[in-house]
Amino acid sequence: MHLKANNQFTNELFQLMNSIKQPHIAVIGAGFSGAYLTKLLIDAGIRVSLFEKSRGTGGRLSSCSLDNHSADLGAPFYTPTTPAFKKWLDQQPDIATWNTKVIDFSGKTLPSETFHLAIPKQSSLTRRLIQGAHFAPSTRIAKISHNANKQDHKNSIYDDDGLLLGHFDGVIITAPAAQAGPLLNTTEIPRLATAYSNIANQITSQASWVQVLVLKSSDRITPDLIKGEHKLLFRCIKNSSKLNRTDGLGNDVWVIEANSEWSELNKNSDPENVRKQLTEAFLKLLPIQPEILATRTHRWLYARHEAVDEEFIWDSETCIGACGDWLAAHHLEGAWHSAKMLAKTVINKL
Ligand SMILES: Cc1cc2nc3c(=O)[nH]c(=O)nc-3n(C[C@H](O)[C@H](O)[C@H](O)COP(=O)(O)OP(=O)(O)OC[C@H]3O[C@@H](n4cnc5c(N)ncnc54)[C@H](O)[C@@H]3O)c2cc1C
Repeated sequence: MHLKANNQFTNELFQLMNSIKQPHIAVIGAGFSGAYLTKLLIDAGIRVSLFEKSRGTGGRLSSCSLDNHSADLGAPFYTPTTPAFKKWLDQQPDIATWNTKVIDFSGKTLPSETFHLAIPKQSSLTRRLIQGAHFAPSTRIAKISHNANKQDHKNSIYDDDGLLLGHFDGVIITAPAAQAGPLLNTTEIPRLATAYSNIANQITSQASWVQVLVLKSSDRITPDLIKGEHKLLFRCIKNSSKLNRTDGLGNDVWVIEANSEWSELNKNSDPENVRKQLTEAFLKLLPIQPEILATRTHRWLYARHEAVDEEFIWDSETCIGACGDWLAAHHLEGAWHSAKMLAKTVINKL
């Protein structure tokens, strides 16, 4: 009995000492770059607390529910451009490939295309990657402060009610450029403000309107992807054709993406007006007029960035940094690369 108590005490002491010695990083944003960075840091023995303003993970990879259906609201799929990213995707247990039947907006059949995507929905990937982190959803970070006089845990973060959420060895922001800038500025570290403003001057971001439509099933709407030149549309994706996405009722779920120019021009339009225009443009492409069972309209204010070639921001004195697709390339692979390169630097430093 005595021995057991002693062992238990030693164990607890060991755990306590370990948790004190283990570096602790706050990651802000649970999109793909935040989730992947979290995984890399945890694998390297670093403790991670992850803060996300939305209710779940995914960011621009998130999915939504509409009645009994789920649809990918952000990136519908990804196309690796380097062998390294393709290899990484192929190693993930929840990533599959999707062979699509493609037509253009005039109805002409195009060569089929193969994409990578997560199953059963895009956000499944980020949800798995963050395992092992302390995850705080619905928490918007509004301020980061640095106290150089402290011995350790020199960085503190606060939510938008001014509530102190903890002290950390490092803080990494993975929000899109327009949201990362104001946060970096709250540190009142001139080096970080300068690093951001030098980059921000070169970045432009574009909005994207997305319309989800649940249609009563029709065998006559056969393509998985409709794309090409269109004054309003960028592409239309049959979400229900993706692997593991059927609703069991046989209905079709389409995700209609407006093109960047139209989305930017209509950035502040009434969603109801956007819904009407996108639905009408899509229905004109079809050989029949199916019954619409449900709709949802979503605006991404910072959907895509004209990225800069910086990879990441990192201030080694304060251990505050940023990564994301806006720092590498304007797609998922850019977010992956940026997070990977910053993780390497952080792991070497701590
Ligand atoms: C409609 C659409 C289609 C796309 N299509 C493709 C495609 O075909 N192929 C491709 O490769 N890529 C595509 N992309 C781009 C791809 O989705 C992004 O490159 C990638 O998901 C970016 O990941 P990220 O982690 O850098 O940023 P995000 O996903 O934006 O993650 C940032 C996270 O930070 C959170 N956050 C922000 N501020 C705070 C705060 N103050 N406190 C707490 N949390 C905060 C946000 O809520 C978000 O979850 C598309 C994007 C959109 C929107």
